[in-house]
Amino acid sequence: LYIDLDHFKNINDSLGHSVGDMLLTRVADRFVHESRTGDDVYRLGGDEFVYILRNVGTTEALAMNTAQTVARRLLDAMAEPLQVGEYSLHVTPSIGVTIFPDENMEENDSESVLKHADTAMYKAKSDGRNTFAFYNPEMQVSASKRLILEDYLRKALYNNELHLEYQPIVNVNEEIIAAESLIRWHNPALGNVAPDEFIGIAEESNLMLELSNWILDTACAFARKLKAGIDADTTFRYITINISPKQFKQQDFVHRLIKVLKHYELRPNDIRLEFTENILIDNIDTTILKMEELLAHDIKFILDDFGTGYSSLSYLHKLPIRTIKIDQSFVTGFKYKSYANKAIVDAIIAMANRMDLHCVIEGVETKDDADYFISKDIFAMQGYYYYRPISGDGLIDLLKHDDSRQLVNKL
Ligand code: C2E
Ligand code: CA
Ligand code: CA
Repeated sequence: LYIDLDHFKNINDSLGHSVGDMLLTRVADRFVHESRTGDDVYRLGGDEFVYILRNVGTTEALAMNTAQTVARRLLDAMAEPLQVGEYSLHVTPSIGVTIFPDENMEENDSESVLKHADTAMYKAKSDGRNTFAFYNPEMQVSASKRLILEDYLRKALYNNELHLEYQPIVNVNEEIIAAESLIRWHNPALGNVAPDEFIGIAEESNLMLELSNWILDTACAFARKLKAGIDADTTFRYITINISPKQFKQQDFVHRLIKVLKHYELRPNDIRLEFTENILIDNIDTTILKMEELLAHDIKFILDDFGTGYSSLSYLHKLPIRTIKIDQSFVTGFKYKSYANKAIVDAIIAMANRMDLHCVIEGVETKDDADYFISKDIFAMQGYYYYRPISGDGLIDLLKHDDSRQLVNKL
């Protein structure tokens, strides 16, 4: 972040340089106070500062979001006047943001990075000052889009714009054994917004916690309704619930979960949690402890998106995992995938079997692919070939319906 104070010269000219100097140190203190641990703030000279963000996230989208959050925080902090001797002074910053290494940019050396941030800062000035701007105009667009989405999403929770759909999961006999709950958002102005577009945004703000609580509650309420609505002798066993890293990290996550289960008179076996490898990034030991705590309460889980995350193999043997779901990017259009892709999938399945792990395949879109996986030693499948995500009532109907009975009893 390249930070320049707006109209600082006026202060020097009207109150003198010694007041200007003191003001600069107050501003520096405030920036340092607002900075995140691990980040660094420097004064370049004059009224210009550089704030270097570290640990901004693993993707460009996350990095943008982090940078934007920090920039907004600095702007907010500067909205409060600063006391310099007898004067209560108000200065606003203009902030230019650049992200590096930027793969689209040839120059990623420090000089170019500073130059880009400086250019972005001038953009913030021309946007009216007391604001921030990204160097890359596309980033600017998506940053404002993110802001809008975040704002809408905050309201979506209270306006009943969210609901869950359920995608059936079948075993190798093609009987429905479970269903994954997936969030859907319909906003009157934005239309349908896909989870991939808003989950990341929610995750970066505290919205995800509220959202997760709603998801957990709604999925469990549905699991209760489903249990009451279908015969106990069907092959159907559980609803799976996607758990976000933030949600998992909540201190009272397990406690909260148990409370919800109790509230809806569910047994731990009526649900399964789906985690991605992202929950491992911070602290693998605490994660393992929490997983063991869940298992001690008989709450089971699935490692989702397997094969795409963070150094999958180095920790796999350490985790108390019983089921993995191979990421759909390895699976959809399997027939046309490269030889290497198939080799990876076969190897994951073989490894899972050697380790006594259940393997779920997601993104199965054709009969050929389904047949291929059925011939392998896998546990379950999910994909458009079998079922798309459907409404809760649709799922109950499906499980009650004669045709599905036939399907259930096919073998
Ligand atoms: P995911 O957990 O990997 O969910 C599976 C995604 O694959 C779903 O997309 C599903 O509709 C899609 N899918 C299923 N079968 C097929 C297929 O045969 N072909 C193709 N092309 N796609 C298939 P969706 O619903 O858009 O969700 C995307 C992601 O958003 C999810 O990926 C998950 O990471 C996140 N998400 C969705 N709902 C929730 C939720 O309730 N909580 C949390 N924390 N994350 C959620
Ligand atoms: Ca999932
Ligand atoms: Ca997945």
